[in-house]
Amino acid sequence: MSDHSAFSLEGRRIAVTGSNTGIGQGIAVAVARPAAQWSGIGRSAMDETARLVEAEGGYFQPVKADISDMKTSVAMLNDLMAEGPLDGLVNNAGIIRRADSVDFTEADWDDVMEVNLKSLFFLSQAFGRNCIAAKRGGRIVNIASLLSFQGGIRVPSYTASKHGMLGITRLLANEWAAKGINVNAIAPGYIETNNTEALRNDPDRSKALLERIPAGRWGVAADIGDAAVFLLARRPTTCTAPSFPSTVAGLRGDHGTGKRHFRARPRGSGTRPLTATGAVSSAIRMS
Ligand code: NAP
Repeated sequence: MSDHSAFSLEGRRIAVTGSNTGIGQGIAVAVARPAAQWSGIGRSAMDETARLVEAEGGYFQPVKADISDMKTSVAMLNDLMAEGPLDGLVNNAGIIRRADSVDFTEADWDDVMEVNLKSLFFLSQAFGRNCIAAKRGGRIVNIASLLSFQGGIRVPSYTASKHGMLGITRLLANEWAAKGINVNAIAPGYIETNNTEALRNDPDRSKALLERIPAGRWGVAADIGDAAVFLLARRPTTCTAPSFPSTVAGLRGDHGTGKRHFRARPRGSGTRPLTATGAVSSAIRMS
């Protein structure tokens, strides 16, 4: 039976970077439900994702690539698009390195910027070129972060990459909106994945974060999936450039009592809670 609903993904072909685990896997499974064909781009085996997608009745094609190798991964994406039109690209793969800024190494800066920002731009460029040449619209969804809006602590290259990602999302949205290519970002809060394992294993940090998360729990990868389905569908045709903070596991700005691990903002600057608009004070400290 055909699904003609506004947010159907039936017949759509979507590629996601980093879908063997975590948020990328959560998105793959959510997108498989409304019947999209899914290509996972990553460096590790994706058998588990393939099983989960197929259990939802979706089709999954794993594509091996290390996206820090720009030339190879762009060539791989071009090959994928030569096999048939690609309707959407999800730039999800990302890494994080934690160290005090005074100790942060150049390698930790370069590695993170390469995977989180440079690859996102050049994969998006390849996708955009293909859509424009074929006079076909498309959808790009970038997985940003609360650290696209806030400073964080001990993650300088991650914060820089996620701020940059939001800027690139807006720039591409401006350049390509008239060509039918919508570019959006989802900014997850704190989600239970490998990325946050160090924080979850630190009882003090974990407790302090949970006290500031409105839902009082870590988010799960599936939380992000439905937002991705919305943004990858044929509709909404005019939804481009906003970012969608995931507030379930985001932080509230009014940090309540006894939060000795954080000084949310300079004294006297008032309170400005984190809301679904994503407008937050850059003085909030977190990672
Ligand atoms: P994760 O479980 O560590 O997943 C990261 C994914 O990126 C993995 O599939 C990983 O593959 C892939 N990846 C990393 N470097 C790669 C490379 N060079 N080539 C190909 N694939 C590569 O973490 P996650 O939380 O799901 O992260 C997904 C995205 O969400 C990231 O952009 C992250 O910044 C963002 N995010 C996460 C949170 C959170 O709370 N978890 C919050 C906000 C934003 P391997 O398994 O092979 O390393």
